[in-house]
Amino acid sequence: MKKRILSGMRPTGGLHLGHLVGALDNWVNLQKEYDCFFMVADWHALMSEYENTTSLQESATDNVIDWLAAGIDPEKSTLFIQSQIPEHVELYMIFSCLTPLGWLERCPTYKEQLREVKTRNLNTYGFLGYPVLQAADILIYKADKVPVGEDQLPHLELTREISRRFNTLYKKELFPEPGALLTQVPRLLGLDGRKMSKSYNNTINLSDSPEVIKQKIASMFTDPKRIKLPDPGHPEVCNVFSYYASFIPELKAEVSDWCTNAKIGCTECKKKMAEGLIKKLAPFHERRQGFAKDKKKVAKILEQGKEKALSVASKTLKEAKEAMAFPA
Ligand code: SF4
Repeated sequence: MKKRILSGMRPTGGLHLGHLVGALDNWVNLQKEYDCFFMVADWHALMSEYENTTSLQESATDNVIDWLAAGIDPEKSTLFIQSQIPEHVELYMIFSCLTPLGWLERCPTYKEQLREVKTRNLNTYGFLGYPVLQAADILIYKADKVPVGEDQLPHLELTREISRRFNTLYKKELFPEPGALLTQVPRLLGLDGRKMSKSYNNTINLSDSPEVIKQKIASMFTDPKRIKLPDPGHPEVCNVFSYYASFIPELKAEVSDWCTNAKIGCTECKKKMAEGLIKKLAPFHERRQGFAKDKKKVAKILEQGKEKALSVASKTLKEAKEAMAFPA
C-alpha cells in the first residue's frame, strides 16, 4: 500500500510561478509514489484574512484550476476544501485541549510572523493555534509524510508531539508520528529580486496572459553592474539568468556566453527569456483555460475529493472519540 501524504495551500489569492516550481511540480512528482491528499487550506487562510473573506471562495476554485493545469491528477490524488470536512475542526478542538500553551508560544514562525506582518493583526487566539489545526489536518488522515520546507520543521515536530501526547493520554497507538519529506525545490525570486510574493507586487501569476508576462519580464532587475551594452555581465548575480536556469536550462550555456562576452543587451536577453517561458508555459495555459471554462468539472472533482476525504476523516475521528470514551 502506498504511504500517505498531506499537503495544502492557503487560498489567499492567485498562484504564481513561485508556487509552480516551489510546490506544484513537487506535488505532481509525489503523486506517482504516494497516496496524496491535497487540500485548499481555507481555515488557515481565515486565520490571517479574517477581515476580508470575500475572495476566499473564488481563490479556492482558482487555485484548484492551477493545480489541475499543473498536472495534479484527481484519479491519483484526493483534492478537497478543508472547511468542507468538519472533522478537521473537531479534532483541532480535541488537540487544543491537550496542547500546552508553551508549545505554541515557542514556535519560531509564530514569533517571526507576529514581528514581521504589519498589514494585519495576527495577535489572535486563532493564529496562536495555527499549528494545532495543522496537526489535526495531518493526523485526521494519519499521513505518513508531510512535504515541508526547513522553516516548517518545528510545526511538524509539534504535530508529532501532539500525536504522542494523545496516544499516551488515552493509551492507544492511534495516531502516527509523520515524517518530513524534505524536498530541495528551486527558489524563484520575484521580478525585483526579492522573495516572490503577492504583497511585494513582484509576481508572474499562473493566470497571466503572454502579453502580461512579456511586460513583467521587461521590467525585471538584471546585473546592476551591466549598464551599457559593451559592459560584460555576470549571469550568476542576474535574476533573469536564474529564470533561464529554471525554465529554459537548455539555453544556459548560450546565455552565459552572450552575457559575459557582451554579445547581446539585457533588453534582448529578457525578450528571448519571455518568449521561451511563454512557450514552456503554453501547455499549462491551454489546460488552465480548459478547466477555467469547465467549472462544473472542477466542482465535480472537488465533490469526489470531499467524499473520499470525509470517509477517512470521519473514521479517524470516531476512533479518537472511542479512545477518549467520549460520546461519538
Ligand atoms: S544579458 Fe541577460 S543574463 Fe546577462 S545581465 Fe543581462 S539579462 Fe542578465
